[in-house]
Amino acid sequence: MSLGKYRSLLIKKMKEQMMNWLENEDKPIIENKEVYQFLHSIKGTSGTLELDLIYVLSSKLLHKAEKRTKAWTIEELRDFLFELMELSFEFEHLSLGVSQSARERVINVPLIQLIDDDISILIYLKDQLESKGWMVIASTEADKAIDQYYNMHPDCIIIDINLPKKSGFEVLYDIQQHSNRFFIPKIMCSIKTDRSTRLSAYKMGADDFISKPIDIEEFLIRVERHLERKRIFDQSVIIDELTQAYNRKFLQDSYNRFVSDIARTNTVGTLAIIDLDYFKKINDTYGHIVGDKVLAEFAQFMKKSIRSTDILFRYGGEEFVILFQRAVEAEVKEVLVRMLEGFSNISFKEGEKSFSLTFSAGIYCIEHPDINLQTAIKTADEALYLAKNSGRARIESANKMQIGRAKKVLNISIVDDDALIRSILITTINGMSFDNLAVNVQAYEDGVQFLSSDRLAHPGLHFLILDGIMPVMDGLEILQQVKKITNIQEVHVLMLTGRKSKSDIAQALKYGADDYLTKPFNISELEARIMRLIKRMVR
Ligand code: GH3
Ligand code: MG
Ligand code: MG
Repeated sequence: MSLGKYRSLLIKKMKEQMMNWLENEDKPIIENKEVYQFLHSIKGTSGTLELDLIYVLSSKLLHKAEKRTKAWTIEELRDFLFELMELSFEFEHLSLGVSQSARERVINVPLIQLIDDDISILIYLKDQLESKGWMVIASTEADKAIDQYYNMHPDCIIIDINLPKKSGFEVLYDIQQHSNRFFIPKIMCSIKTDRSTRLSAYKMGADDFISKPIDIEEFLIRVERHLERKRIFDQSVIIDELTQAYNRKFLQDSYNRFVSDIARTNTVGTLAIIDLDYFKKINDTYGHIVGDKVLAEFAQFMKKSIRSTDILFRYGGEEFVILFQRAVEAEVKEVLVRMLEGFSNISFKEGEKSFSLTFSAGIYCIEHPDINLQTAIKTADEALYLAKNSGRARIESANKMQIGRAKKVLNISIVDDDALIRSILITTINGMSFDNLAVNVQAYEDGVQFLSSDRLAHPGLHFLILDGIMPVMDGLEILQQVKKITNIQEVHVLMLTGRKSKSDIAQALKYGADDYLTKPFNISELEARIMRLIKRMVR
């Protein structure tokens, strides 16, 4: 047998032993002696087989186990063995003799949206763009893409003109109406490269036109230039175009002035965070253009209702922040209650139909100048969450609340038949932290187990990581089942697929996966992807 074969055997043995400990609920406590012996044997064998990384790591762990006297709980052991699991995973799936252990965390990389119904090109371009370190969300269908565009706030969008149901021009037209995103670079591409197609694209607001077949090197450079310009633009603007409120970037500056006023005058100020109720329904019923109009009108309404010394910011999609200067909580509450009454009486007319809306708000009175913006927002947001949970159309104050009581719950469910992946994912996710989110992770071996649990009935947001290929029920089937269950508020899905299975990717996107990652993947990439999707999802 070659060295490679022995190495694989060792990895297999390691994996089996680790999973035996970590997945055996009948045995919640593991004696340290067992762990010690295991590491001792791994160290010896890996040394012989010249598996240097495993050798170094198991020596390090062995040293720690040597000093330990207590037995291990499953959780403790999972944390302790994490790096070893990671290495065996990488060895198994990536055949890594050497590791690229420099874990680059790409959390703030640009997000590119790609729309193309030709799955081969889609996969190829996504791969290429991702190799530049950018994150890509891809879709094959216009409607899904438009939805994603509004939800995910991409930094650049690339649209193929020839799409099946709606043409790329229609997609462009739709998002073009969304004036707030005017400065998002829009790139059209097509095999039709005649003059009139190109002119139409530019006339309709495209910033660039790339002809197919694509010269990949040129394509990447052009995308990079667009992203760079977008970044510079973002830095220089402080007014939100759609609502004419200040944008989020300007909030920090204003907040600094806000607290220095509090310090100087020895007064207090109050921060409010305001979110429209069931706004998604407006988009779904009347379309995003109407949604945009409502947002603009809402902002105008708020501006009129506050004093000139109070400042309005658009904090996120339909979330606003107001800094009420020199105002105590009770005053602000009164203002907001009046605003709520006034706003809910406005009747928006759309064709034959008319509708009205309410909002919820959380407020937090800042009594000390040393409370930073992040804390202030987080605290007010907890009150907002309480307002939402107590029936909406109301204002809650954080000062009266038990801080930390109300947190949004994010349920992350992993369905994968590979025990090693399950374990790695659990540790990775438990190691992530999100402001204002209580994360609850569960792993399932197969789709039947997952679907027959009452997991999706848990309140809160849901994020699913599904393995595309599984013996009992594959990820696609699960996805289809999940989509059938209505009244789940929000479910986002990351699908893990095999690199070669184009049809799987196409299907996954068709059935509503938000993103896919091709196997084999490396763990830091997966981690970054999860982090990024979740951040976008709870924004
Ligand atoms: P809730 O009462 O819980 O707040 O319900 P909601 O429907 O308002 O839920 P959520 O806050 O999660 O949804 C906000 C929606 O706002 C999702 C997104 O599609 C939409 N949205 C975000 N930004 C924009 C925008 O600029 N224009 C439009 N038209 N819609 C937007
Ligand atoms: Mg809302
Ligand atoms: Mg919201």
